[in-house]
Amino acid sequence: MKGYYKADPWSIIEEGFDPAMQEASESIFSLGNGRMGQRANFEEQYSGESLQGTYLAGVYYPDKTRVGWWKNGYPEYFAKVLNAPNWIGIDVEINGEQLDLHTHMPLEFRRELNMKQGYLERSFAIYVGEGRLEIATRRFLSMKRDEIGAIRYAIRSVDFEGEISFTSYIDGNVVNQDSNYDERFWEMESSKAVAGSAYLMARTRKTGFVSCMTMCYTLELNGEALQPEPEVVQKEDYVSNRVRLELGQGEEVILYKYVSVLSSMNHKPEEMVSIGINMLIEAMGSGFEGLFEEHIAVWEENWAHSDIIIEGDTAAQQGIRFNIFQLNQTYTGKDERLNIGPKGFTGEKYGGSTYWDTEAYMIPFYLSTAREEVARNLLVYRHKHLKKAIENAEKLGFKDGAALYPMVTMNGEECHNEWEITFEEIHRNGAIAFAIFNYVRYTGDRVYLATHGLEVLIAISRFWCQRISWSEEREKYVMLGVTGPNEYENNVNNNWYTNKMASWTLSYTMRELEHLKTVDRAAFDQLTEKTGMKPEEETIAWKDIVNKLHFPYEENLQVFLQQDGFMDKEQLMAADLDPAERPINQHWSWDRILRSCFIKQADVLQGIFVFEDEFDLETMERNFDFYEARTVHESSLSPCVHAILANRIGRSDKAYEMYLRTSRLDLDDYNHEVDEGLHITSMGGTWMSVVYGFGGMMIKDGLLSFDPNLPAGWKSLSFKILYRGRTLRVHIEKKKASIRNMEGEGLDLFLAGKRVHLEEAGSVLADL
Ligand code: BGC
Repeated sequence: MKGYYKADPWSIIEEGFDPAMQEASESIFSLGNGRMGQRANFEEQYSGESLQGTYLAGVYYPDKTRVGWWKNGYPEYFAKVLNAPNWIGIDVEINGEQLDLHTHMPLEFRRELNMKQGYLERSFAIYVGEGRLEIATRRFLSMKRDEIGAIRYAIRSVDFEGEISFTSYIDGNVVNQDSNYDERFWEMESSKAVAGSAYLMARTRKTGFVSCMTMCYTLELNGEALQPEPEVVQKEDYVSNRVRLELGQGEEVILYKYVSVLSSMNHKPEEMVSIGINMLIEAMGSGFEGLFEEHIAVWEENWAHSDIIIEGDTAAQQGIRFNIFQLNQTYTGKDERLNIGPKGFTGEKYGGSTYWDTEAYMIPFYLSTAREEVARNLLVYRHKHLKKAIENAEKLGFKDGAALYPMVTMNGEECHNEWEITFEEIHRNGAIAFAIFNYVRYTGDRVYLATHGLEVLIAISRFWCQRISWSEEREKYVMLGVTGPNEYENNVNNNWYTNKMASWTLSYTMRELEHLKTVDRAAFDQLTEKTGMKPEEETIAWKDIVNKLHFPYEENLQVFLQQDGFMDKEQLMAADLDPAERPINQHWSWDRILRSCFIKQADVLQGIFVFEDEFDLETMERNFDFYEARTVHESSLSPCVHAILANRIGRSDKAYEMYLRTSRLDLDDYNHEVDEGLHITSMGGTWMSVVYGFGGMMIKDGLLSFDPNLPAGWKSLSFKILYRGRTLRVHIEKKKASIRNMEGEGLDLFLAGKRVHLEEAGSVLADL
């Protein structure tokens, strides 16, 4: 698949139509606006392989758990990101024959995702008899009015004469590919179609979310409005308007379809029809071009602070923009009830919305590129789920306010049901705790700690304290039966990364409790009362754990050991694997994977990345060499961490290889699964691999620090960072780097190892 999409700095372009690539392209060309999103399905009928996908933020279905053998503690359901009624549909008939690109092989097919302006465009030609028709479509989901989508569907006749019919529809007859019992998840609530417009209202079973989609359209022939009398169809689960017209040589007909897409997350069901209609009237008033102008103005604003410019390497440039584009169209941070699913709006896999991915990979991106409240909203989301996390821990036998956040969740309830993940992949609690620290150290918002953060930290610390046990034999504390980030190992003892997260959380919580007690006694007393905490008593055990927790270590090689007994495994190298057997998760039995030493994703290295201040370069290097050689990167979350560490230890080639792997993971389909959807959450990691990796950004001694290092083929790298009310522009070339303070007060920072003062509106320069 490498090279299938044309290299271009601002667009993803497919030239020529290959039906075998249709599902992959449906993922790649997906659109979203934070409130809703969809795969790049064709508007007209398509009878080839396709995954229909329209999604509404926050709308899910609790699909009853399906497992081989029930284990106590399993959640009742696995949340499904729901495929919602399809609103893009426009069937096209030409002289009575359905247009279907599976049967009408198109000529000069071109599809473009324009990332700068956030739209999807398609053009192609077909012959009907001897007559040539040229078809061009454009659609976008408005970033400005995030409940509006618009489509322009143009057919130009070169030398065709005959009848064209458009059937513009909304179809509620949709299913999820990913469903446990092949159930239908929607029940139709009401529908109505009249000449010129129609709506369809549907309600999800069990969860009762209501969606209401309302459509209308206008038609133009050679630039003049046309209003043929439509044939109207109104069924329970389908509404449409069909118009026919005669098209002569050299003539062009354009159908503009406008749709309002509402959900009961934001509106009362009884008001949705009238709100939807009013929104459409306003949208039609602005017209396609007017809506488009205001849409691209939002994208312009987004790019103004989140763009990364790489000179000298188009593939790398396209890769990073693709990632940033997807991040910005998946989550806009306006709504603290929403989060970011691993597939965003591009597919169904992974069901539930929220994984540890958000805290570990996404928060850094939003912290540096969006207003402070965006990252804060992601933290508040977890704070709101604290009660459920405590209940979740209780179900597993923990007590006294200990919280175990779910591995996968929509509303705070756990909905992942593989025991090795649900019960054992508890490092997620650590990522949530660390994200609080990360947010506070970046923004300086200590008030958040007192009002929200510490409550979460106390509950997580309580969990670690109860989950860790004392080993008489070792005379150390141990954490038994866990799964680390490397899911190719289960039920291991003393996963180094998890132990590290646990011990760090306990220390950090104690430190912050002490601090609050000193600076704001009233807030401290309020907190201890609310959480029922007796700090002096409870922290005795916490301190003891911090002092005596066991961390596996390989003395001969002087590396941290991923878990106890890791060296008992046959030590093979990933480079020696037969390429025909990769990815191993698609070729090997699970049993073989579990017994092998191959590592799915950064695990010890994840810990070294998170706590990089604690390790010297030699330690990083030894661990990097040991683990990189055994890592197969079969999780999208892996290469970014390796890219950052490779940069830290000066391995530029490796860093670049890992960067391409993370930034072009989907565009070049490294893991052979892009047809299922994009790896949205790893895209935050891609951003880190540039800004933290090549840009060398970190927080050092409480100050921003940049230690840049460009890959050989790059002429320059530029990006902006929002930091405590300032906008900083970083520009890096081979031999020099500069930082300009574009907005905000002066500040001290480190550039290329030296502490410097950056004045308000000033610049600093350094030789590299
Ligand atoms: C990874 C997890 C991740 C999940 C969702 C899995 O393949 O191993 O770390 O949370 O995907 O992205």
